[in-house]
Amino acid sequence: MIKLAILGSTGSIGQQALEVINQFPEKFELVALAAGQNIELLAEQVRQYRPKYVAVGDEKRYSDLVESVKGLDVQVMAGLSGLIEIATITEVELLLTAVVGAVGIEPTLAAIRSKKRVALANKETLVAAGSIVIPEAKKHGVAIIPVDSEHSAIFQCLEGREPSQVNKIILTASGGPFLRFKVEKLENVTVAQALKHPNWNMGGKITIDSATMFNKGLEIIEAHWLFDMEYDKIDVVIHPESIVHSLVELVDGSLIAQLGLCDMKLPIQLGLTYPERWSSSFPKLDLTKAKQLNFLEVDTNLFPAISLAYKAGRTGGCLPAIFNAANEAVVAEFLRGKIKFTQISSIVAEVMGYSLKENFSKVPSLEEILRADQWARKAALQLLAQNC
Ligand code: MG
Repeated sequence: MIKLAILGSTGSIGQQALEVINQFPEKFELVALAAGQNIELLAEQVRQYRPKYVAVGDEKRYSDLVESVKGLDVQVMAGLSGLIEIATITEVELLLTAVVGAVGIEPTLAAIRSKKRVALANKETLVAAGSIVIPEAKKHGVAIIPVDSEHSAIFQCLEGREPSQVNKIILTASGGPFLRFKVEKLENVTVAQALKHPNWNMGGKITIDSATMFNKGLEIIEAHWLFDMEYDKIDVVIHPESIVHSLVELVDGSLIAQLGLCDMKLPIQLGLTYPERWSSSFPKLDLTKAKQLNFLEVDTNLFPAISLAYKAGRTGGCLPAIFNAANEAVVAEFLRGKIKFTQISSIVAEVMGYSLKENFSKVPSLEEILRADQWARKAALQLLAQNC
């Protein structure tokens, strides 16, 4: 039995992870569940899966959660400290970090320091704090298994290969709903248009990030840390069908790709079972139905997030955290209908520019990274207030 804790069990990845677990009830013991604020669903999950521990990220919802799991034999926790407790429970072997945002960093780091295996679906942990998290994982001999579909693909393509055999990695990107838009038309796209992803069914924040391609930007930085790959060796190619989940180019020119349906349950399952592979009854890709696979260059005028990501990644220090946090702040405003779509990247670019005057450390501690994260959120909202 794999003793598992899930951070973010009510989100899109968390719910699909539970679907994976439902297929193998005799192989997983769900020790702990945690969610940000969806108490109703969390309580329902507690009733169904009977974990020993449950936590809600939003401290104010603690008493609501206690009330809604009354009579069940479960220990209730709350706040960031609750998430960290969940991540470090002695009997837990494997932590699935599936929360969205920078809130995932500290619990994941705590799990690594407690020598838990980590299945990582939270990009921000590596984007903002890769310089801290990766050395800690090495130091504690902890494996981080990527759950993001592109990184799971690259992880599979790289398996068993020497780094000296690898020329570069190629992340595929669907291009989202605005792939064929003209730059001038982007300014007036609506929230509903941006939320209509052609292939993937995901949470709101990541769907907007796919429309701006900030998601791919975050994935570039994530790949740098996961695979110890210089930025010059990370390429992005648009692949509208999202069938090829990413590729690796070897030194002799051979391209290795991983293909599958647009179904996150596959990378989630591998993240939970690795190094084993278990046979599942989820639908499988029929190549004759895929018909065509197209590949196009990224237009960085249409998607400035890609250039910003390379800049943030190459500069390093606190800039990736600032890139991520500013984006999180402005995307929330976009989702509330407060700003234009194109302001997402322009404000992030401005915040990145201003941050150079703030003298953030080039080799930051976790505290400095988290301070830069907070600074960037405030700076983004101030710039928005000035521009509106
Ligand atoms: Mg992805």
